[in-house]
Amino acid sequence: MTRCKTFLFIFAHPDDETTSSGGTMAKLVRQGHTVYVCVATKGEEGTLGSGGFSVKRSDLPRVREQELRDALDMYGTEPPIFLGYKDKQLELIGQEELQGRFYQIINAIAPDFLITFGPSGISQHPDHIAVHKNATAAFHTFQSCHSCSKLFYVAIPDMYNDFDLNLSEIERNPNVIIDITDEFDLKIAALRNYKSQEDAQFMAKFFEQNKIYFESYAEWNGADTPSIRDQF
Ligand SMILES: [Zn+2]
Repeated sequence: MTRCKTFLFIFAHPDDETTSSGGTMAKLVRQGHTVYVCVATKGEEGTLGSGGFSVKRSDLPRVREQELRDALDMYGTEPPIFLGYKDKQLELIGQEELQGRFYQIINAIAPDFLITFGPSGISQHPDHIAVHKNATAAFHTFQSCHSCSKLFYVAIPDMYNDFDLNLSEIERNPNVIIDITDEFDLKIAALRNYKSQEDAQFMAKFFEQNKIYFESYAEWNGADTPSIRDQF
């Protein structure tokens, strides 16, 4: 890429961004691009601590908000955009409402690249799937007037088979593989800083043990056999 671009990542919960894309965000910022992150909830139904750290349920939204702010500070992105919906209830919100909010954000930022969850949400979490459906629909409305903008889904190759993920076709076939070797330690530090979240600690260990020095995405473009590349 020759000129600086704007990237918008839309996810459901604080920590989704770091698990899927922490290294990529840090790398994009280092390359001079502008990165925004929007999360639909504050994840207040998540776990209440890990490794001896514990949080009261009533404090969890504030703690997870701070954990996300800390992660984005590490990467150097813009401050997070919180939509403030209730955790584990996104699928109950009317589609017009959620699509409308996503459209407002997308239209205000006018990203060159939107990155979000694909059809399975990677984990089949109903909130992730609701984000996929509504962010995708909002993007298509936006794209009708901004035809150069592109949509990518988080996608992961076969090496995660042990998790028995039921990924969709597009999520199993990444065509953008980002080398995050130089950003790996930062991503692990950000995951470990999600002290409220057991999953984040598990993923930090998993990425380290399996030396997963990349993050990957699939472009939604209708092409049957897109070629692999190392940038958006
Ligand atoms: Zn999540």
